[in-house]
Parts: sequence; C-alpha cells; structure tokens
Amino acid sequence: MKPADSQRLCILVPDSCGPDVTSIGRNYTNALLRVGYLPLVVPLTDDAEAIRQAVMLADGLLLPGGEDDVAPALYGESPVPEIGPVNEVRDRFERALLAEMVRQHNPVLGICRGIQVINVFFGGTLWQDLPTQLPHYDIEHQRPDQKWSGVHDIQILPQSHLHALLGVDTASVNSTHHQAVREVAPDFQVAARSADGVIEAIESPLHAVLGVQFHPERLATGDDIIFTNLFRQAFQR
Ligand code: MN
Repeated sequence: MKPADSQRLCILVPDSCGPDVTSIGRNYTNALLRVGYLPLVVPLTDDAEAIRQAVMLADGLLLPGGEDDVAPALYGESPVPEIGPVNEVRDRFERALLAEMVRQHNPVLGICRGIQVINVFFGGTLWQDLPTQLPHYDIEHQRPDQKWSGVHDIQILPQSHLHALLGVDTASVNSTHHQAVREVAPDFQVAARSADGVIEAIESPLHAVLGVQFHPERLATGDDIIFTNLFRQAFQR
C-alpha cells in the first residue's frame, strides 16, 4: 500500500521493450519530474502479480510513444504493406498494465502509440497508415524533422475534459505518427482533431483515461505552460 504521507504522485512508465535493455526516453520521465511527480519505469514482464503490485504502488500510468505499431490482429484486421514494426510482446505488456491500472481506477495518459494502445484495448480501430489510407488529407503527420515544435494545429472540443485541463481552444502540436485512431472505442469520445479531421485526442471520463496523438513530453520544456499543465493535470483526476 502507498504510505499515508506520500507527497509525490508515482506514475508508472513501461519499458520500451527493446531486445536487450530496459529503457524509456528521458523526455517522458523529465516531463513527469518537471511537475513534481515520480516516474517509475516498469521493466518488461509477463508476471501478472508483479504488474498488480506495481500498479498498487502507483497513482497513474503513462503509456509512451515508440516505433512499434499495435498488431492489427488486435482490432480484427490484417496488416497493410505499409505497417511499421509490430512488437506483440510489448502489446501484451502494455495492455496488461493498462487493464490493471483501469481495474484499480487510476488515471492513464497515453501518448502517440499510447493513444493507439488505449483505443484498441477498449475496442476501437486504427488507420494503419494515414498516407496510403487517407491520401487526400492535406496535413503531413509524419514530421520527425521538427519533433520539438508545433507543425500543425489541433482544435480542442469545448466540452471535453482536455479543454478543461488545458484551457485553450487550439494548440500547435508536433506530429510524428503514420497511424491514428479510426473508430473511437465505446465509452470514449474525441477530444481534439487536426484541421483534416484526424483524431488527435480521445478521452473517457468513465475510465479516467486520456490519449493524445502528439508528443507533449517534447513540448513541456523551457517556458511552456500548456503542455506542462497537461502532465500536471492528467493524473489529478
Ligand atoms: Mn498529427
């Protein structure tokens, strides 16, 4: 159990599940440390009891981005030729953490791959490759050349929880994704879109779960307030 005098929120961040090393991008842990939270990196395991105990110690879960695409079989599709690398071990591990965190009613923030893991876990689907499946869309969402600054705007829905967290109608965000939420999972709603209609955030007040398609951890630096606030508020529900 958590000690009664615990000051800092403890936020689990799963291992990126590479072949040899337990690792997580320092941007994620820095964004949590910046708002006074304690990130706890969970190494890859299939031990359900270890996952249950880790979640008991924690106050929330951050599902990070990464190069791996969610296995299309998890939403009932065959892979298109343009699918990226798939890591089924990582899928299983992150879904186990997500399931346990939701079961214990703690908040979850998913980033990039994280929003996709969330949407599929709760029964939604993904665009497997935006450039080929939505070729008429006019925003380039794969912009690794500008990871650290906004490349397109998002419109945040006025009634959304995300709007209440951020306090703005629009924001300029970075964008390094070739996939996106297609059919939104039951119990979830769209919280933000880009001008071409691509879903950039989903949320479920029922589950205290928020997902964003952009990378706020790379924007919550320097004198930023908006994305820093996102990290501060996302785990306060
Ligand atoms: Mn985008």
